[in-house]
Amino acid sequence: MGPAQTGLRFGKLTAPALQAPVNRILPFSCVDGPGSRMVVFFQGCNMNCPSCHNPHTIGHCNHCLDCVPHCPNGALVDASVNGKRKLAHSAPQCQNCESCLPHCGRNGSPYARRHDVASLVKQIADHAPLLDGVTFSGGEATLQHRFLGALMAQLKQHPECAHLNLLIDSNGLTDGAHWDGLLPHADGVMLDIKAMDPALHKTLTGRDNAKVLASARLLAEQDKLAELRFLLIEHHNDSDAELDALAAFIRALPGQRPLKLNGFRHHGVREQARQWAETTELRLQQVASRLQQQGIDARINAAP
Ligand code: SF4
Ligand code: SF4
Repeated sequence: MGPAQTGLRFGKLTAPALQAPVNRILPFSCVDGPGSRMVVFFQGCNMNCPSCHNPHTIGHCNHCLDCVPHCPNGALVDASVNGKRKLAHSAPQCQNCESCLPHCGRNGSPYARRHDVASLVKQIADHAPLLDGVTFSGGEATLQHRFLGALMAQLKQHPECAHLNLLIDSNGLTDGAHWDGLLPHADGVMLDIKAMDPALHKTLTGRDNAKVLASARLLAEQDKLAELRFLLIEHHNDSDAELDALAAFIRALPGQRPLKLNGFRHHGVREQARQWAETTELRLQQVASRLQQQGIDARINAAP
């Protein structure tokens, strides 16, 4: 084959469509950012927080089939071929009962599935007239940074979606270079800080917090830090030293934004965190007051 033919052949190759694993899509929410929003929950997270109330979004399915007998609606099927194990999920039969989730040892979801950019743009466009915005959550949305950048770029160009406010809900554990591909298309980022002390952060999430804090600084410098949040876990991350370090860190960020304080709750969490005390309203008020005295616009998020 001559060079001209080779070039022609390669010239006809098309790049595979970008895809990303999505746990579920919530058509309407009023608690995941301002206004009426669609929420896309990506599957897969780079932290492993015992306090996570969506632990089934952390892992990825390896088709072990352990969940199949636990679906009361016949939506999970062993679709193995030639000894290669394969789980099949029937969306029409699925009742979203979540009975399968406790039986996945990988913190996965049998109903998570891969979407391409075009199919998500269409779903969002279909709902767009009733929406103020879309929130990309997870799992950790920035793990899908190439997909998400392409998706948001298309939404901003789409005649029916251009009005939508696009927010990324993130744990901040991503490289600065990944934000470069996301921020030109995102209206803002809602970022969680779990702890200021690196060792404590590792205990609470499994990961160091240097990238998280760097993300907060980068986003604030680019005026894209829409919201900061802190999950207050009594007796874990509410020491005076932690709170004072948090206040100092936020004060040093450019710009102004509220700090939303959430109290730790048992709902949805795994066994380890069920042993932890739920955060009391009194403790939330004490912490909010301490932070406010240090110049932080700390606001207690109403429990759902
Ligand atoms: S959520 Fe769907 S797949 Fe899981 S048990 Fe319920 S019906 Fe079956
Ligand atoms: S969802 Fe979990 S339990 Fe079900 S097949 Fe996949 S890895 Fe196994």
